Amino acid sequence: MKNRQDFSNLDWDKQQGLIPAVVQNHLTGKVLMLGYMDKAALTKTLDTKMVTFFSRSKQRLWTKGETSGNTLDLVTIDCDCDNDSLLVQVIPNGPTCHLERESCWPDGDAHPFIDNLTKLIASRKGQDAKSSYTAHLFERGTKRIAQKVGEEGLETALAAATHDKPELIDEASDLIYHLLVLLEDQELSLADITANLLKRHSQSSQ
Ligand code: AMP
Ligand code: ZN
Ligand code: ZN
Ligand code: ZN
Repeated sequence: MKNRQDFSNLDWDKQQGLIPAVVQNHLTGKVLMLGYMDKAALTKTLDTKMVTFFSRSKQRLWTKGETSGNTLDLVTIDCDCDNDSLLVQVIPNGPTCHLERESCWPDGDAHPFIDNLTKLIASRKGQDAKSSYTAHLFERGTKRIAQKVGEEGLETALAAATHDKPELIDEASDLIYHLLVLLEDQELSLADITANLLKRHSQSSQ
């Protein structure tokens, strides 16, 4: 556990002894739940590496998962800028919400801009090829789109090999855009790819 901060500056008085702690999946960045820690809960969390709160309803220390088994393994804890809240990064064992959901909040987009771009690209399918480059690519079909991905991949590699950073940013942007078009053409999305990468990551870190 990387102890990036010491906790001696935490403003316990400001929060009347209970510091809000936002819990986040350290791999995906998903925000899982909010709890409150008193000094004893923070100490227990650091000692046992299992996230423990002070439960305001139970009025006692509460180790998340103590009955459900859905514990939270501690990765790191950070204080915020003015030392009155905590960010707790974890590896969750099972769903964190007591309603058997991954998070206590509804799903948000992991990458909102990429998600919006993907929707825009999808909306170009079947549109007038003269009206947009994306529509033109879809009209040319899979072979042309795949060829563009190959070209842009090569251009990206060349830009890196010649240490041309501005060119690398441009070519990598071309590559990612054309890859999004190719995935859409194949009825796949970046979410399928990130899910696969996450699966591989979990397998290799076991
Ligand atoms: P657990 O700590 O998972 O064994 O759950 C024990 C009890 O703690 C549940 O029945 C809920 O009352 C409460 N609880 C569990 N998870 C959460 C959560 N994410 N947010 C708020 N309360 C929770
Ligand atoms: Zn703050
Ligand atoms: Zn919940
Ligand atoms: Zn290019």
